[in-house]
Amino acid sequence: MSLDLTSVIRTIPDYPKPGIMFRDVTTLMGHPEAFSQAIADLTAAYNSHGVEKVAGMEARGFIFGAPVAERLTAGFVPIRKKGKLPYKVSSETYQLEYGEDVLEMHLDAVEPGDKVLIVDDLIATGGTAEAAIKLLEKAGAEIIAAAFVIDLPDLGGADRIRSMGIDVSSLVS
Ligand code: 5GP
Repeated sequence: MSLDLTSVIRTIPDYPKPGIMFRDVTTLMGHPEAFSQAIADLTAAYNSHGVEKVAGMEARGFIFGAPVAERLTAGFVPIRKKGKLPYKVSSETYQLEYGEDVLEMHLDAVEPGDKVLIVDDLIATGGTAEAAIKLLEKAGAEIIAAAFVIDLPDLGGADRIRSMGIDVSSLVS
């Protein structure tokens, strides 16, 4: 019997700012069956797509992305905040509600033509995913899809990414 993943996602009102309902996935990660199911479901959708690399965004994208990569026998590519990666990087600036942020990826993390699956815990406005897509496309990757544990559809991120021609999936909405 599969578990309703929404039942193990905790909502924290007014975090990190007043008015924001933060979907806390640490409760899902800490639940053995739920975590296992989430990884299995993220993997199942893509195990016939020839995925060669899974790219995960810091930090929760690492937690879900790395086990998916291992199960797909793919490599894992960390996409990190500015200044965290030790070798030469490609950078992409993206807009936050107030101000901007920068994501970086090692220049040699993907080869042109590599089939890449993007994994993150949650898609809201899609700004983070769009920056990751731009980094991967600059490197010549073929993006198979972007997969999320949670989609917040009211914020339009999944539609934004689909309008870039990228397939998007999520386990809960
Ligand atoms: P976006 O760029 O799509 O607006 O925001 C998605 C990014 O912010 C993801 O990397 C995600 O980890 C983080 N994020 C935004 N809101 C939430 C939330 O309510 N819960 C969690 N767990 N992450 C969030």
